[in-house]
Amino acid sequence: MARLLAPTLLWDGTTFRRGQRVSIDDAGRITQVGTTLEGDAEQLNGALLPAFVNAHSHAFQFGLRGRAEQFGQSSTNAPDSFWGWREAMYELVDSLDAQRCRQLSEWAFREMIANGFSTVGEFHYIRHTDERRYVLDDAVIAAAEATGIRMALLVACYLTGDIGKPLAGAQSRFDAESIDAYLQRLDALAIQLTSPLHSIGVVAHSVRAVPIESIVRLQDAACERGLPFHIHLEESKEEIASCIAAHGVTPMRLLLDNGVVRENLVAIHCTHSLPDDLREFAQAGGQVCICPVTEANLSDGIADLPTMRKANASLSIGTDLNSRTDPFEELRWLEYVQRLAVGQRGVVLSQDGDNAAGLINVATRGGARALGVNVGAIEPGRNADLLLINHEHPSLAGPSDEHLAAALVFAGGSDCITMRMIGGRTL
Ligand SMILES: [Zn+2]
Repeated sequence: MARLLAPTLLWDGTTFRRGQRVSIDDAGRITQVGTTLEGDAEQLNGALLPAFVNAHSHAFQFGLRGRAEQFGQSSTNAPDSFWGWREAMYELVDSLDAQRCRQLSEWAFREMIANGFSTVGEFHYIRHTDERRYVLDDAVIAAAEATGIRMALLVACYLTGDIGKPLAGAQSRFDAESIDAYLQRLDALAIQLTSPLHSIGVVAHSVRAVPIESIVRLQDAACERGLPFHIHLEESKEEIASCIAAHGVTPMRLLLDNGVVRENLVAIHCTHSLPDDLREFAQAGGQVCICPVTEANLSDGIADLPTMRKANASLSIGTDLNSRTDPFEELRWLEYVQRLAVGQRGVVLSQDGDNAAGLINVATRGGARALGVNVGAIEPGRNADLLLINHEHPSLAGPSDEHLAAALVFAGGSDCITMRMIGGRTL
């Protein structure tokens, strides 16, 4: 049903303004924004903001909550790092059936919506149980349908256990078999996803899990289909070392040299990427998705955000392992980690030099671009995925309109949200 909204304040991409109205059509799309829209408007007491976009999630890892936080017990004497955590993740993978996968995904998606995300990029790589192939594809889709979240299903291709090594143990549940088999399944899923809230994307899990010739084929296939292409990149120093040992170059350089870096490419993490690589990557149109809480939890390291910003790389955020699913927390970690590393306040800035707007843009427009999904702004043509913020909430301490965005980003949280809308429908 078409709607006309009259909020107290409305986010225009740079600041909150008064007196703006928004019209939404039957399909849940924003048709007009302005001060003179005529009609019977719904008065909304609060500040209207585009809902946030979570560009990188592994929903099933919600099941690791509290389970990978005991240290000094690694069976392989791996240091208490990403690799020790990966053992706990593989234990979960081994035990996951379709019902549990669906339940964990549903919990993760519900919590994301409650915390202010409307959209998730579900980087989906655990696909089979021991009994049935691809049954976990269906489990994740069913979970998204049940919750009403907007989902870009990022279908992961996973072929090798490490560079040049066969899959081992729990990794058999990720097995895409071959590029041809992967693409056949991808196209079948694209047909299966009939909800207007669902879309699809192509994924090479990492340079560890997909040979470079196959990564090139996947990127070509993504471009042919007009889809985003995602890959984990340079999260750990070990990954970089094994790529250099096999190919003589860093993973990012490998992608650059093979023409994989195009405007639809989203590299997840880039924690240890080199400045020269990053500059060339951004120039070729490559985007970066940072997962600040996950990268801190796993002790990955701190990405070179100043170089990414200077090179105008488009940024987004993701909740990745879903130890938390909170956009406000991710944005604060994104900024604060950089402040500590760089020794300077105000790192993630908008083009006008505004820190709050810079951060909000990363989690709205940046995420929408990363997933190729038409959300992330309150403007004609976009889907009406919106949040209403109680601008009088005590935690925001009654700020002026001018300071509301900064109060929200640095002090606010999901308890300030009074309404959540996805595709024009209030949840
Ligand atoms: Zn990830």
